[in-house]
Amino acid sequence: VILPPTFEVGTFHEDYKIDNTLGKGYFALVSRAVPKKSGVPVAVKIITKSRCVRKPKMLPSIIQEISILMSLEAHPCIMKIEKVYNEPDFIYLVLELVEHGELFDYITKSKLDEEKTRFIFWQLFDSINFLHKKGIVHRDLKPENILLANMDTLHIKLIDFGLAKEQQAGEKLVTQCGTPTYVAPEVLKHSSTRAYGKECDLWSLGVMLYICLSGYPPFDAEAVGPPSMEEQIVNGIYSFDHSPWENISSEAKKLIRGLLTVDPDNRFTIHQAMNSPWMLMDIEGLKRRI
Ligand code: ADP
Ligand code: MG
Repeated sequence: VILPPTFEVGTFHEDYKIDNTLGKGYFALVSRAVPKKSGVPVAVKIITKSRCVRKPKMLPSIIQEISILMSLEAHPCIMKIEKVYNEPDFIYLVLELVEHGELFDYITKSKLDEEKTRFIFWQLFDSINFLHKKGIVHRDLKPENILLANMDTLHIKLIDFGLAKEQQAGEKLVTQCGTPTYVAPEVLKHSSTRAYGKECDLWSLGVMLYICLSGYPPFDAEAVGPPSMEEQIVNGIYSFDHSPWENISSEAKKLIRGLLTVDPDNRFTIHQAMNSPWMLMDIEGLKRRI
């Protein structure tokens, strides 16, 4: 059950001192902050209310993000929210600080081998399973929204519930959202008659798995001429033809094929992904990392 958010009484600046900037999203600025009295540093996501005036759907989506984060029980791979200040000009989300940057930056610097990738996806599948069981669809899974909690162990935290939605039993979601590279075909094609559900998260996981193992995305935005990226996505046009794939296991490719299945009804479910031969291939290796 998702409850409405509760807000702090005082002001953010009475309680915290802002430090360096951690990241910028589409809607928000995120900085490190330290409590004035004592205690552990946090991350603060600052939302400027005047920007919401021009985008009438934004405020409800921020409330939704806060409500979902506040309603979730603790999960080791999901960022926690500590509190929220609702002030006249700004909303401050006080968040668990995740110190080691975006998975996006990490994978552009160092390519991941299958063992490391498996551990990251084991954590991702476990978090998505946790969310889906509660009826929550994340809808914005991409490497910018996955942070590294520890560079050496590769423990991760899932962040950014700005597009997340609680799906009532039998309800299908209809808003078109997400980032083109990671967006599922049914979300792109969507019209009022074609709604979509939690399967869209599994597609995004498939795109990320492809990127982590090869270093490049399955669907090419810079394609010269047709098919356009949208056409590639809705028709599931991608390949394992280039050199990085020569040394990648057939089990990994099978999992990617299962996740990048255009028809959401035939796509791997989170249960199939968690129990795929690739995931189960090296249980001992996983246990050592957990
Ligand atoms: P948006 O909804 O605008 O995309 P995000 O919640 O994704 O905003 O935050 C934007 C960026 O800020 C992230 O990609 C990340 O780099 C950084 N960030 C967000 N939350 C945290 C956190 N808890 N700890 C450290 N950095 C964070
Ligand atoms: Mg984001």
